[in-house]
This record gives sequence, structure tokens and C-alpha cells, in this order.
Amino acid sequence: MTAPVVVIGGGFIGLCSALQMQRRGLAVTLVDPGDPEAAASFGNAGQFAVGEVVPLSGPDTPAKVPRWLMDPLGPLAIRWRHLPRLTPWLIRLLRAGRPDRVATISASMAALSDRIHLDYQPLLEAAGAQALVQPGPHLRVYPSRAAFDADGWRWDMRVKAGLRHDLLDRDALHALEPTLGEDIHFAVAALDATSVIDPLALMRAFDACFRAGGGTVVTGKVTAFTRQGNAVSGVTLADGRVIAASQVVIAAGAWSHRLTRLLGDRVPLESERGYHVMLPDPGVMPRHTMSHVARGFAVLPMGDRLRLAGTVELASLEAPPNWDRARRLIEGARTLLPGLNTEGARFWMGHRPGLPDSLPVIDRATRARNVIYAFGHGHFGLSWAATTGRLVADLATDTSSNLDIAPFRVGRFAGPVWA
Ligand SMILES: Cc1cc2nc3c(=O)[nH]c(=O)nc-3n(C[C@H](O)[C@H](O)[C@H](O)COP(=O)(O)OP(=O)(O)OC[C@H]3O[C@@H](n4cnc5c(N)ncnc54)[C@H](O)[C@@H]3O)c2cc1C
Repeated sequence: MTAPVVVIGGGFIGLCSALQMQRRGLAVTLVDPGDPEAAASFGNAGQFAVGEVVPLSGPDTPAKVPRWLMDPLGPLAIRWRHLPRLTPWLIRLLRAGRPDRVATISASMAALSDRIHLDYQPLLEAAGAQALVQPGPHLRVYPSRAAFDADGWRWDMRVKAGLRHDLLDRDALHALEPTLGEDIHFAVAALDATSVIDPLALMRAFDACFRAGGGTVVTGKVTAFTRQGNAVSGVTLADGRVIAASQVVIAAGAWSHRLTRLLGDRVPLESERGYHVMLPDPGVMPRHTMSHVARGFAVLPMGDRLRLAGTVELASLEAPPNWDRARRLIEGARTLLPGLNTEGARFWMGHRPGLPDSLPVIDRATRARNVIYAFGHGHFGLSWAATTGRLVADLATDTSSNLDIAPFRVGRFAGPVWA
């Protein structure tokens, strides 16, 4: 009997890859430690970010970073102790912000972003999970029209990529969203954005669909690979179990580089730590999902609960959470929604798998040709998971793709940091 394809990681990237390969008739085994809260997929903001084509880094990033770091409510924090280790990643981040690079990266983001709904639809249908997705629009709010205008090139980039949107002045905005605080004077409604009302429920629905389709789920952590020539014939778990594999997919989120290193590929993957606060009885409930652009967080109705999520903290995978970051989400949210009730608030921290050029790696391993990489989706891993899964299934079945994966090659990081 042929060994299964082994997928490492049970977040959205691993789950969607497993489902898409199963749909092509492959036998698939998924390995995950079994603690969903450890996955970024559990705690994200639930946005299917249609039309989000702006990389993390741009030409104005070097000027903006000091201001962000000085602002305790700002969107970015760095634990200075980790700076020496982070420096190569930060250099690559700044270099990815050169104007020529930004345009190219944005085009690659658009290629993924354009397919979000198309590639999710069959998976949602098969899992009976359509009801977990709520329609938009998503509101990007600004204190003023001037603050929106200052978004300049970022906004132009979205419009050029075809984002369907409405600009909302104060009256239009407050009529649409009466819960908003008085100090918010401008917004853009992203018309095609949709969102997941419960990311954990969607993970569970995909997991159940995968098992119902004959997929096997193994609880465990992969620590090593069995090599046979230039291929991998199995994975070894922390408890010593070995699972034979015809192919392996590494979809272990922010931990993926630890596995690629075992295969000889060094990848500059960093945890862009994000926080969320779950409010069981928020007192005010906006009608729409909203993001506060300047502060880098979102306010997300999820059924009768409200999630506040976002910000980026660069520290490490091991550093303990700084719950002040979560408390600051509450402070920020109060500027949007005065009267917010935070009783019973639950805090969470998770690891976005961040590559410095804002693009994922979707490719074959350099030195083990039956290993496929699918990680590094940063801020858009929920959005791009179904498409990534389809590309993984194309690679696993040697089928040509209608989407060029050249921009997602692992080899793009082979050169020196300053190249
Ligand atoms: C606060 C926040 C808000 C966000 N909002 C959005 C949003 O609105 N829209 C959007 O598109 N994206 C959003 N994201 C990003 C998105 O959540 C991530 O990009 C995505 O979840 C990454 O999925 P993944 O499957 O690669 O990784 P993960 O979800 O982290 O899953 C990786 C899994 O691999 C497992 N694993 C690790 N090592 C091993 C090993 N050795 N063996 C076996 N298993 C292993 C882990 O335990 C984990 O279960 C947000 C992220 C955060 C933190």
C-alpha cells in the first residue's frame, strides 16, 4: 500500500492543504500537537481580506517605525532584548519596502487575494460551513479624512488592484454604524470582504470534513525526518513514533523554519505576535467588522461576542505574552466604541508566521523533492489558505497551476540579507 501524504500542522494552511489533496484522491494523514489555541488560525480576526494587496513594508516604513514604537497604543512593538536576532529579518523587511519591490509583491498578493472566495467556496460547501461566513462590508475607519489621505500610496494600490469600495463621510458612516464614537469622522467600506464568525468552529468543521472523507489525524509533534536519498520516507514524532510518508507538506505556521532547517533550507521566518481580547458581553455591538487603521487592530462581531484583535509584537516564539498589549486593544477599542463592557474579557496571544516580504513560501524543498512547503502567510493566512491548499495539491499531483508560484519560491531567501 502506498504511504499517505503527511501534512505537518493543523492550522488553516494544513487543513486546507489536506482537504484539497483529499479532493484529488490522495490518502492524507495530518499531524498536529492537538492544542488549537496554539495556532494563529484559532485567534485571528476572521477576515477574508479580499482586495488587501498592500505589503507590510513600504517606502515610508523607515520613517513610520520610530513613531509606532514610541506610541504605547501603536500597531508595532519590539522586545529590545530580541533585537540582535531580529536584525537580519528587519533588514530584509526594509529592503522589501523599496518602491519597485512593493509593486511586484503587491501583484503577487493580488493573485492570491483574487481567488479567496473562488477557492474557499467548494471547501465551505463540503464542510457544510457556509453559515460560518458573514457578508461584509468591512469598515476601515480613520479619525478624519486627512488621516485617510495620509494613507496615500497604500490606498492607491488597493484601488488599482480593483478593490470595490465606498468612501463614507461622517454622516454616512454614523448612519451605517451608530455605535461608533464621536471622534471617528471617516471610513472606507471594503465591499467584497467577508468574515468568519468563529475561526475555531471553521477549523473544527474542516477537521470533521477531512476525517469524514477518510483522512487520518495523528496527535503529535514532528521532530525529525527519515531520509532516503534526496527524498523523505517518513516523519518521526517527539514520542518516537514514525509515520511513513509518500510526500510531506510542512504547514507548521511560525514553527515551520525549524523543520525546513532539518532539510537544509534556511528561511527567515519570524513570529509576528498578535493578540486578541474576547468580550462575552460587550454591551455595544457594531453591525460591521471594523479596523482602526492607525492603531492596527480590528473590532469583530462574532455571534453575540466581540473580538478585538491585532497589533504586531516582535519578540520570539518562546517569550511570554505581554498582556499589556491586549489591555491596550481594549483602550483603543473604547475610542471606537464608547461604553464597551469588558467584564469577562479573555486574552489570547498567537504567532503569525511572518516572512519579511509579506509573501508565503509555497514550493518544493530544495534538497528533498517530495517535501512541499506551505507557510509564512503572515497577516493573511486565513484568507489565502484555500488557494494555498489548491497550489499544494497541484504540486503533490504534479499538475500545472493556473497561478504562477515563482514569487513564492523558497530560494528567494538564499542570497545575503542585504541583496
Ligand atoms: C491577531 C491575529 C489576527 C489575524 N487576522 C487575520 C485575518 O483577519 N485574516 C487573515 O487572513 N489572517 C489573519 N491572521 C493571520 C492568520 O491567522 C495566519 O496567517 C494563519 O492562521 C496561519 O495559519 P497556519 O496554518 O500557517 O499556522 P497556524 O494556524 O499557527 O498553525 C500551525 C500549526 O502547526 C502546528 N505545529 C507547529 N510545529 C509542529 C510540528 N513540529 N509538528 C506538528 N505540528 C506542528 C502548530 O501547533 C499549529 O497547530 C491573523 C493572525 C493573528 C495572530
